[in-house]
Amino acid sequence: MSDNFDAETLALHTGIHRSQFNEHSEAMYLTSSFVFESAAQAAARFSGAEPGNIYSRFSNPTVSAFEERLAALEGAEACVATSTGMSAILACVMGLLSAGDHIVASRSLFGATVNLFDHILRRFKIETTFVSATDTAAWSAAVKPSTKLFFLETPSNPLTEISNITALSEIAKKAGVWLAVDNCFCSPMLQKPLSLGADLVIHSATKYLDGQGRVLGGAVLGKRDLLMDGGIFGFLRTAGPTLSAFNAWVILKGIETLKIRMDAHAAHAMEVANWLEKHPNVSRVYYPGLPSHPQYDLAKYQQKSGGGIVSFEVKGGREAAWRVIDSTRLISITANLGDAKSTLTHPASTTHGRISQEARDAAGITEGLLRMAVGLEAVKDLQADLTRGLS
Ligand SMILES: *Cc1c(COP(=O)(O)O)cnc(C)c1O
Repeated sequence: MSDNFDAETLALHTGIHRSQFNEHSEAMYLTSSFVFESAAQAAARFSGAEPGNIYSRFSNPTVSAFEERLAALEGAEACVATSTGMSAILACVMGLLSAGDHIVASRSLFGATVNLFDHILRRFKIETTFVSATDTAAWSAAVKPSTKLFFLETPSNPLTEISNITALSEIAKKAGVWLAVDNCFCSPMLQKPLSLGADLVIHSATKYLDGQGRVLGGAVLGKRDLLMDGGIFGFLRTAGPTLSAFNAWVILKGIETLKIRMDAHAAHAMEVANWLEKHPNVSRVYYPGLPSHPQYDLAKYQQKSGGGIVSFEVKGGREAAWRVIDSTRLISITANLGDAKSTLTHPASTTHGRISQEARDAAGITEGLLRMAVGLEAVKDLQADLTRGLS
């Protein structure tokens, strides 16, 4: 595809390789394996002498279409699709790191990512030091000779803290470590970490890329040598957390409308955030599009908008927070985000419930905190739904 096309055009037209039937919509290739013309061709495919599909754990045309499309949107040389966002993070670590290596990670990560780094990887002698998402100097100070990877999410979940990608990429380059950014909250329509200096981008395609809460998926993006020779693809084809062709197809359809959805999510979230900020029973609102956000200027530089996630603290702790949730009739009580339908969660007792109280306190996840992934419903209907519990 031409580099001159805008993102919304690339989202519709990249990765389409029509079959002999000339289908307009992408074909869904539900097949475990691919047939060879001869024993010699089979041997050539397996040895890598001849490019082409072998077995869907390694590659599949529908999955490749998803990889091509997401790579075009992120401005990446290569993309490796995975079964979930968590397996994208795992593939990244297993592909690039070994026992004895060290990770510096943001303290404000998705709960499962914290558990993966803090508990599972530690058993395999990969240590992680957690630092503040926003204190750039702390990242420098945490670097050891064995450090291989910086890992962050921006905006963070659930407090929407903004990490300075450019500043951290400069520290990473000087230290000779890779910087990986989980770009789940913004999607490439609002933020392109590689253009800001990151080496790797992680996605949970389960969220905005699908956009309608249907399937799980993930991806790692970056330079071809890092992904294909660096071991990430090697881990995937050997260990097997592969994206299914069916899920890839669903996500391809989701990506077609990503631009207009992200713009609508952000516009609705901005309205909800402004309204919550004026509500007498709300003590604090976390949204990068609000001038009251501590990193408002940085967010404005890094992101095209504030995105779709608004977190807010209600007065009265857990009891008051749960009352807001339990009084909703429209907003879904569910942990997912990035769905067309609005969702509401109490992070302290759900997504961040398995991490220690100490870690929760350090991350600022209080008992009164609620996280809303603002959907595509009319804003006045969302406000009415929240008002019942808030008042
Ligand atoms: C959901 C999420 C993940 C994990 O993705 P799954 O597809 O659920 O495995 C990782 N990072 C962030 C920021 C997420 O929101």
